[in-house]
Amino acid sequence: MDLKFVQTTCPYCGTGCTFNLVVKNNKVVGSIPNTRSPVNLGKTCPKGTYAYEFVNSKERLTTPLIKKEGQFVEASWDEAIALIAEKFKGYKPDEIACLSSARTSNEDNYAMMKLARGAFKTRHIDHCARLCHSSTVAGLAAVFGSGAMTNSIPDIEESKCIFIIGSNTFEQHPLIGRRVMKAKQKGAKLIYADPRYTPTAKQADIYLQFKSGSDVAILNCFMHEIIKNGWENKEFIANRTTGFEELKAVVMKDDYSPENVEKISGIPAAQLREAAEIYAKAGTGALLYSMGITQHTVGVDNVKSTANLQMVLGYLGRPGCGVNALRGQNNVQGACDMGALPVVYTGYQKVIDPVAHKKFEDAWGFPDGIAEGANGYEVTTLINVLADNPGEIKGLYIMGENPMLSDPNLHHAEEGLKNVEFMVVQDIFLTETAELADVVLPATCYAERDGTQTSTERRVQKWRKAQDPPGVAKLDWKIIADVAAAMGYADQFAWETSEDVFNEIAELTPSYHGMNYERLEKPEALHWPCPETDHPGTPILHTQKFATPDGLGILSPLEWKAPAEVPDAEYPFVLTTGRCIWHWHTGTMTRNSPTLDTEVPTGWIEINVEDAKELGIEDKELIKAITRRGEVEVPAKVTEDIMKGVMFMPFHFKECAANKLTNDALDPIAKIPEFKACAVKVEKIKEA
Ligand code: SF4
Repeated sequence: MDLKFVQTTCPYCGTGCTFNLVVKNNKVVGSIPNTRSPVNLGKTCPKGTYAYEFVNSKERLTTPLIKKEGQFVEASWDEAIALIAEKFKGYKPDEIACLSSARTSNEDNYAMMKLARGAFKTRHIDHCARLCHSSTVAGLAAVFGSGAMTNSIPDIEESKCIFIIGSNTFEQHPLIGRRVMKAKQKGAKLIYADPRYTPTAKQADIYLQFKSGSDVAILNCFMHEIIKNGWENKEFIANRTTGFEELKAVVMKDDYSPENVEKISGIPAAQLREAAEIYAKAGTGALLYSMGITQHTVGVDNVKSTANLQMVLGYLGRPGCGVNALRGQNNVQGACDMGALPVVYTGYQKVIDPVAHKKFEDAWGFPDGIAEGANGYEVTTLINVLADNPGEIKGLYIMGENPMLSDPNLHHAEEGLKNVEFMVVQDIFLTETAELADVVLPATCYAERDGTQTSTERRVQKWRKAQDPPGVAKLDWKIIADVAAAMGYADQFAWETSEDVFNEIAELTPSYHGMNYERLEKPEALHWPCPETDHPGTPILHTQKFATPDGLGILSPLEWKAPAEVPDAEYPFVLTTGRCIWHWHTGTMTRNSPTLDTEVPTGWIEINVEDAKELGIEDKELIKAITRRGEVEVPAKVTEDIMKGVMFMPFHFKECAANKLTNDALDPIAKIPEFKACAVKVEKIKEA
């Protein structure tokens, strides 16, 4: 028997746990957590534990498929690639759009970015960070000059008080939750704000249950109390920030007194006072947030508001502090870093900057130039264009994304995708989106290839090949290189290995410049920025100055604004959405993992006990949830763990897809949809 252990990095959440895949006779059959990992210290959550199960699923794509007369027919690579090149050559650059993927590696995202801008000459490239943390990228870049988590995961243990808002950390980033518990064991306090009494709430010293969409009011109220009592860090404010007087003028308004914020948020005034005092007096405080903060029409304001609080207290640039945006997917940080965004090349070098444009044009050497230095469509704008202006975008190339379940207002998204003249989907399973494609290309998963991914803490870690891919599936970047070659650009994509791609990334990206595969071999890998090959990497950002032009952090005066859609007589409840510990996003991998799928086989809607009683709804009863955008039938989960007036649905399950209900209203800057708050009603299903 041939048995080996291959160390790799988890393909699910942005924590970046590493484990050893157990490989028996060239097949992955198990996983064992890596005890040498400084991230997960020999533990994994259920998803990491069973991350090997989908790898050899019989449902994996094994060969290219071409749709003929409405049916998929197996095709050769030559046939599929030739068809793609022929179609895309026939479109003008602005008629083409590409969606990259937070699930695939840095190398794949870089290749997709280069294909879009170099071979297709289009400016329209984006990926699903738009749907989860585009507010973080925009908000933190605006105030700190860098749109990423400021501190590292191990560093959370150094905190004296941890304030989590809008993140069910213990379920969504369980191994970060473990760090929070380690900090608590050392004496730290945990303040937790969320509409649901989640597993994270159960560990909190102070639990603030609030109405979804009142985040800025709550954070302003904290600052109101801090400044009123003179607890702000005057030295930090004076030396490292700008805009304090303008901020103070807003947060000190009576609107943000605890009594008034109680009316907005539902949190008792006394609790707001107590939490603000404990947090301010801790001296070392880490703020953690996730999509509860970002997925709002005021997502950027919410993010900036978290930064305001940390700057007012001087909780930045040192251990145990920071604005810690917990990124969702395994490589959403990396996909952003790789420039799979409509406004930047790698390392956030702006496409509208002529110097950056020339740098990439010269380095890539396309004989006919690259896409003009202009911003492209965001995913959410793209879907609107597809639905509302059919024919503007004719060719769509999607790698590893499933907008047919992940996007808000799914009927609208489906309408848009069906309007596309020619769609290519490259994935590991025949997803709901792939079913609509004209050509489907089989890709390798994390266990079948070398590569890198960048976790939420900016740690760049390796994937290592453990087994061969199924059928004739290929590496994502290799497929992209083949398409580029068929478009006439073989020389520009002449990589032989994943390492070749990474070396090109490092060459062009200042924050990755000092990295190479050899340096990434060590257990702790490297945090960006790592500008030189002798640089140790940067676990904590902004220790001396911020990355803004003058080095100062920008305090932003922000007023609270209500969500785009609030409850009314017809739709009297707030619907919020999220994940559960057993599943991941659109379920592409977890629902093909027997253990995870058996544990939680379908979705549900959480309803407060009193609301259920008034509506006459029983626990587990199949009911109808309805918003202005659609309706789904879904089992009720009657619970005291959710606030009266608020309902919650996980968004993983196609048979009761929460995103048929969600609102596609957007944050005006980040263009992120308001997944976290819309108006809903529920009805009993009438018997036939
Ligand atoms: Fe994977 Fe995240 Fe679980 Fe770690 S916490 S094992 S990275 S899903």
